[in-house]
Amino acid sequence: MSSKRIIFMGPPGGGKGTQAQLLESKYGLKQLSTGDMLRAAVSAGTELGKQAKAIMDEGKLVSDEIMVGMIAERITQDDCAGGIILDGFPRTVPQAEALDAMLAEKSMQLDAVIELRVEDSILFDRIKTRAAQAGEGNVRADDNEETLRKRLEVYHAQTAPILPYYEKKGLLHVIDGSQAIDTVTAELESIVGS
Ligand code: AMP
Repeated sequence: MSSKRIIFMGPPGGGKGTQAQLLESKYGLKQLSTGDMLRAAVSAGTELGKQAKAIMDEGKLVSDEIMVGMIAERITQDDCAGGIILDGFPRTVPQAEALDAMLAEKSMQLDAVIELRVEDSILFDRIKTRAAQAGEGNVRADDNEETLRKRLEVYHAQTAPILPYYEKKGLLHVIDGSQAIDTVTAELESIVGS
């Protein structure tokens, strides 16, 4: 089987991480979440982690240079040989262009870009449910309404403009991410499994 390279796009809280984890085992793809990598750096207390924490807590984006370097180093590791799902990268047009360049250099191709489309109002409803379920003290520092508002502004201004970029390349698939988790998974499988 040829290894697949897939990008998950969509707003914060839109279900990318959940769906990527579900597909990871089924298709032997490695989920690469730049958010998880940054949170690991924050927990480990590295220099990068210290710089990234303040930016993440504010809902802003870490620099393209850092993120591109992080992914370039990661996608050549052995556990990515069976294919990858990029979750949270690219997040800006310069990141998308840099990804194209690095894949071309390694003679790798992208198979699909899948947008999990969810309206802002639904994301606010979801964050309220999550906060209520987690209870005080157990919520991620960037998982609150105020930060979601900022993260969505950043998403619409800097990340959504990547979608036409991939649409022109004929790679974009759109899924209604407001549907039940199982329905979204089934639609994803029909794209990833084809
Ligand atoms: P996520 O878990 O993907 O929602 O990412 C959490 C936070 O990490 C984001 O709000 C950004 O501050 C930062 N981050 C993750 N991925 C990227 C990226 N590709 N470019 C810039 N910042 C990122």
